[in-house]
Amino acid sequence: MTSFSTSPGTRDILSPDAARWRAFQQIFADVVAGYGYRYMIPPMFEDLGVFQRLGEATEVVTKEMYDFEDKGGRHIALRPEQTASVCRAFVQHRPTTPWKVWYAGPNFRYEKPQQGRYRQFDQVGIEALGVSDPIADAEVIAVAARFYERLGLRKVALAINTLGSSTERQAWTEALRQYFDLRRDKLSPDSQVTLQKNALRVLDSKREQDAPVLAEAPRIESFLGPESQHHFAMVRSALDRMSIAYTVEARLVRGLDYYCHTTFEFVSTALNAAHTAIGGGGRYDGLVEQLGGPPTPGVGFALGLDRTLLACDAEGCFSPPSESVSVFVVDTTGGLEALALCDELRLASIAAEHAFEARSMKAQMKAADRSGAFLALIIGTNELESGTILMRSMTTGEQSSVARANVVASILATLSQQGTA
Ligand code: AMP
Repeated sequence: MTSFSTSPGTRDILSPDAARWRAFQQIFADVVAGYGYRYMIPPMFEDLGVFQRLGEATEVVTKEMYDFEDKGGRHIALRPEQTASVCRAFVQHRPTTPWKVWYAGPNFRYEKPQQGRYRQFDQVGIEALGVSDPIADAEVIAVAARFYERLGLRKVALAINTLGSSTERQAWTEALRQYFDLRRDKLSPDSQVTLQKNALRVLDSKREQDAPVLAEAPRIESFLGPESQHHFAMVRSALDRMSIAYTVEARLVRGLDYYCHTTFEFVSTALNAAHTAIGGGGRYDGLVEQLGGPPTPGVGFALGLDRTLLACDAEGCFSPPSESVSVFVVDTTGGLEALALCDELRLASIAAEHAFEARSMKAQMKAADRSGAFLALIIGTNELESGTILMRSMTTGEQSSVARANVVASILATLSQQGTA
């Protein structure tokens, strides 16, 4: 028989990792609720055109898109990220501004799979549309920083930069093009190809051969007008005011073409891998307009869930939550008593399990142990006759007999004493 396993770059997320995954999203939901963001669920596929706005020279568009023609002849792409979908939704629904939304879910990029880089990977993110205030940029950065803190991460470094307004960015890109053109033969073959499409992207290169040329390349500072300088200064003051540490990295341009003004990236210094970026974002004032909407400023970020969890592993923080039930019912009278008691317990919101197949007392106690329950309830012929239940603490081994009719109330009392009810 043919058997199958997951496609390259995809994984099954099993327990306990899957529980950690959900807890991650829940903590993110709690954190962003504290800032007034509302949840939205964009579709996983869209018209390819939506994502082409990410930039003709970005690898996400040119090499990594999962796109295909559907049975109705539409050119569809699985989403490689969600900012473009959020902006498309803004244009489609015209909500009042500021429109502050958050999302969580998988994206798809045809990348070379490796540790921390997958073809299906999850992100959580926020977007604030209709706000141009630089204080919003800093607050968006703060959301991510506070979220990492909530996870218990300490070794996270924040880098920020500005790309100026779109006109300034264009002037800078043109200066870069001229500069790189004159030094074309010193660039790596890959960067020479990038240069033909977008000179800014060349700054992204991590190749050693490019380093000397990049070091002397024109910097954005010389192209910034007073407004952009003020914007960036305000972002920095606002971060300082919240005591959020950062470094300014003049070459931080990020992988997507739509950014202007503020860009930022969070890197885990605990990760000893090729890919240490655990989240990033910035301002994208032109994107809504490019998608056919009115001129609308926007700022946001996306955090990679998979990679952030790797960073948590490296720092030994944010362990998976318990998935154990509270109570395990052992029934040596055939199973119906356990079934009925578990039903009652669950109606009272007490998580309970029991064994099947009328197994021996010993086998059922073993199962009780494995279940992680802190309490076993034992029903044998004696208990059935006397209308009682034997309660056994799985931690201390202490046993006591309780009237069957009082069992649920008695467990609820124990749980509330423990603060776990
Ligand atoms: P981007 O959407 O490219 O700005 O990426 C934002 C974050 O998503 C990155 O910092 C990574 O943490 C994560 N990420 C991006 N691509 C991948 C991938 N292929 N696999 C896992 N995580 C990714």
